[in-house]
Amino acid sequence: MNNLELKKRDLSVLWHPCTQMKDHETLPIIPVKKAYGVYLEDFEGNTYIDAVSSWWVNLFGHTNSYINEKIKEQLDTLEHVILAGFTHEQVIKLSERLVKITPEGLEKCFYADNGSSAVEVALKMSFHAHKNDGKNKKLFVSLTNSYHGETIGALSVGDVKLYKDTYEPLLIQSIQTPVPKDMSIESAREAAREFEELCKSRAYEISAIILEPLVQGAGYMHMYHKEFLVLVRQICNKYDIHMIADEVMVGFGRTGELFACQSANITPDFLVLSKGLTAGYLPLSVVLTSDDIYAKFYCDYSEYKAFLHSHSYTGNALACAAANATLDIFEKDNVIEKNREISKYMSDKLLKFEELENVASTRQTGMICAIELKGYKPEERIGLKVYQYGLDNGVLLRPLGHVVYFMPPYIITQEQCDKMMDTAYEAIKSLL
Ligand SMILES: *Cc1c(COP(=O)(O)O)cnc(C)c1O
Repeated sequence: MNNLELKKRDLSVLWHPCTQMKDHETLPIIPVKKAYGVYLEDFEGNTYIDAVSSWWVNLFGHTNSYINEKIKEQLDTLEHVILAGFTHEQVIKLSERLVKITPEGLEKCFYADNGSSAVEVALKMSFHAHKNDGKNKKLFVSLTNSYHGETIGALSVGDVKLYKDTYEPLLIQSIQTPVPKDMSIESAREAAREFEELCKSRAYEISAIILEPLVQGAGYMHMYHKEFLVLVRQICNKYDIHMIADEVMVGFGRTGELFACQSANITPDFLVLSKGLTAGYLPLSVVLTSDDIYAKFYCDYSEYKAFLHSHSYTGNALACAAANATLDIFEKDNVIEKNREISKYMSDKLLKFEELENVASTRQTGMICAIELKGYKPEERIGLKVYQYGLDNGVLLRPLGHVVYFMPPYIITQEQCDKMMDTAYEAIKSLL
């Protein structure tokens, strides 16, 4: 079995996500034979550093021996059970732990199985909570340049044109308020003022604002100041609007705190988690909310008051076991502290990129670094060139348009960081 043979078989039966399939007439598909630590290995023995944590999910490396062991234990005990009317130890334990480690005031966990579905849950819960209070608020606000997933509701509150525009006629009502334009505190205040202006005239119909705290992932790794979160929280309180924090990407230590909301010391009404929840092992997501919201649905049986939302695999036991193993590692390995060291190391190396003529700027929040390139048109597809250069040199980089970024597993060593960042440097330089 070699790479080319597998590519041929693959292309005859698969349709890949987020891909113009015709690109694969020239672009390779890398069949991964195995993976360990930060490395992916193909069928010809080539290795690649997974600088994007396999789409932002992997925290502690591939085939992590501790997580493997915990999933194997669970596999022989209970693989899955319906979560309506039934429960299991893993999901109870996980929920207790999530309530404990997330911002104070989030007391109940509702599970789904991917980030987009969890966003749908949060939107529906927000609307429904107001409705149970006798209010009809059916408008959602999100930030410009935001991304919340691909299902219709989640896509509706997103603002990345590439994913959204085609489906415009299908979408639910939403409006966008400007994201802070850079990482300064002034921009945070300016954007908060704009949001408040909007609330002054339309709060009566706004159910919630949904946002990605600190870093907009698919929105080209745009970053902003935590003051914005503080101010949005205040505005939401004042105008009876829910705050939905979509920490699907930034949750579990990515930004330097366990959760990004904690850097601003705020509690959202809904906290949405997925990607890092199982350290990149199994699909699982959760929405945490307050006892106050929960109470609005709690009553003697009456049609339409209860939250009648479900997914077949809600609270899957194997996924919960992976999530509990993930939290064990956070508890025993001092992860946040170690992340700060490796973030500092990356930040020192990031400076060098600014010397390149085709680099407009660099930015960083915790374990996310981004390099913005300048002077190229979209049709030049420079991202693709950087991607190809990376693959040829043993690093999986997957630029977002003209933004090259690093979001490696937390276990990356300084030496592996050198390889990852030096390769990106050479790739960007080769464009000149
Ligand atoms: C990835 C992502 C989602 C969607 O999660 P999926 O599991 O891909 O459906 C939602 N919000 C943010 C911020 C994300 O990065």
